[in-house]
Amino acid sequence: MLAWSGLRHRYAGGAEIAYADFALAAGRHLLLRGASGSGKSTLLALLAGLLRVQEGELNVAQTELQTLSPHALDAWRGATLGVVPQRLHLSEALTVAENLALPALAAGRGADPARAAELMEALDIADLANRRPHQLSVGQAQRVALARALMRRPRLLLADEPSASLDDEHTLHMLALLLDAAEREGCTLVIASHDARVVEALAERDDVSEVVL
Ligand code: ADP
Ligand code: MG
Repeated sequence: MLAWSGLRHRYAGGAEIAYADFALAAGRHLLLRGASGSGKSTLLALLAGLLRVQEGELNVAQTELQTLSPHALDAWRGATLGVVPQRLHLSEALTVAENLALPALAAGRGADPARAAELMEALDIADLANRRPHQLSVGQAQRVALARALMRRPRLLLADEPSASLDDEHTLHMLALLLDAAEREGCTLVIASHDARVVEALAERDDVSEVVL
């Protein structure tokens, strides 16, 4: 599902980040951990095809990302990935339901209200469909961002620092939501976090591998 070798990334004018070779066994989820600045978000961006592979090989969901053109990478990303970004990027001008429809509409595909309804039901946010993001709690906004990430039935679900700005109780709840969603949707979950609470909670799971950067 996920493997890389000889993978390195250098930002213009920045230091080079080298990633030790790794392969994730089928059916497992992944925690990327390490101090702030160790390269977690960069690796997520590489996995998401948002940064081009400069050096090395990166296989995600049976695709060698370093071989794809930018155009092919865009198509691949849309069909394969769901991302819960660190900043949730919900549109303030739109309701929850409209936020779920937006990516499809922006990409010129039809909205899928049945899928949105199914996800809002599963994530217990159905009654929030007509609210705007500023009317949501942090936890509710994260569920909306999770629902949006799942709209296209991704094979891989990426979450960058999902516990940022959450208290202990909400952190555990968010992890359970992500893991349950991955289970239900049959997709692989990759979480990047430097939060000790997240590391501790995921260490108790026997279906989560970890990479320390
Ligand atoms: P983490 O997510 O683990 O905190 P990042 O992947 O964000 O780490 O960053 C890894 C390193 O790359 C850091 O030294 C950071 O300063 C640098 N970096 C991240 N993004 C950029 C960028 N757009 N331009 C230059 N350097 C960057
Ligand atoms: Mg980061």
